[in-house]
Amino acid sequence: AVKGRLAGFGEALPYIKEILASWRAPPLPVDGELRALDDALYTALWSLGPRFVPVDEPVSLDALDFYYNVRGDAARVYDSVLDLAARDAPTPLVKLRSLSGERARVWAKLEWYHPFSLSIKDRIAWFMLLNNPGVRPGLKVVEATSTNTGLGLVGVANNLGLKAKVYLPQTAQRCVDYIFELMGAEVARLKGALTTEILGDVREAARREGLLHPDQFENDLNVIAHLQYTAKEVDYQASQSGLRIRGVVGALGTSGHLSALSVYFKSRLGGVKVFGVQPARGDFIPGMRRVETGMKWVQLAGVDGVLEVSLDEAFQEVVALARSEGLLVGLSAGAVLRATRELSRRGVLEGDVVVVLPDHGLKYAELLEALYSKVCPDV
Ligand code: PLP
Repeated sequence: AVKGRLAGFGEALPYIKEILASWRAPPLPVDGELRALDDALYTALWSLGPRFVPVDEPVSLDALDFYYNVRGDAARVYDSVLDLAARDAPTPLVKLRSLSGERARVWAKLEWYHPFSLSIKDRIAWFMLLNNPGVRPGLKVVEATSTNTGLGLVGVANNLGLKAKVYLPQTAQRCVDYIFELMGAEVARLKGALTTEILGDVREAARREGLLHPDQFENDLNVIAHLQYTAKEVDYQASQSGLRIRGVVGALGTSGHLSALSVYFKSRLGGVKVFGVQPARGDFIPGMRRVETGMKWVQLAGVDGVLEVSLDEAFQEVVALARSEGLLVGLSAGAVLRATRELSRRGVLEGDVVVVLPDHGLKYAELLEALYSKVCPDV
């Protein structure tokens, strides 16, 4: 009977079972039918986020359960900062005039509306820590981060009475060390341009010293957070406003959010095209990596293509949006916008297209200043 109620998600289950092959959802104290489910199906079900697991209730996978269980009330009053981090949703979805045309309407999901890192990475920070049964006050959390996941984890850690230490690659902006220290975290800069290049050292330190290492690159709670929240939010927003989602464009770092959106929308709706964006070879765009540097989930997510964008192109797009619609977005958002423009030019996009803008441009003052003096004559 539970299987029967998964109508509409049937195609997602094999993906999720495969993505989560080595992972098990936490046991739930339930009786009845769920006990009869095999482990993999139970894990898939948990990952998709049904709120009503007990068997007497219908198992709801509808986007509406997002509204009833997650969204804060209209007054946006929360019991604590952690409650705010977990329940202040959805983040806005706004149509970009400057990128929409006859054929495709471009809807930007503004992911700087989160309290700790002012980025999409708050979502995985609280989800990875609150779903970790090993979390206890006084423990130290460590993570390799280009900045945003670190800020999210430190924010949550401070609320939970945990200590935190972040490991940064050389490419993170200079001022970031100071920001982390101000927030009470330890900071170490390691040799390496990408977070994945310093990951080995962080894993080793965590193992040696018995520290809590959420590990956003390997931890399936990363993609699950985006399945349960980011994807459902967009689905809910679309259903409330009569949008029919036909395309999704997003940046690739760990590949968590784009993989989740791909799995969710491709299995839920027919004909949705999903595109990832990676930096051009040799370029560094904060938060992003190239697929060949290793990503756990994107290969399984069935994306239709991965586009390359250079740092200069991403910057030009940041300037263009700031000067047309007044939104100053981060550089990975600029890369997503450039890829969207290119896909529109090729006639690949149609109908309502969601583009995920991971964070805000003010956070990149150092980098924007350097780019402005280099690229300015051309923008
Ligand atoms: N953009 C920014 C600014 C980020 O910080 C990140 C991840 O750290 C991404 C994009 C990529 O997101 P994901 O790790 O979900 O692929």
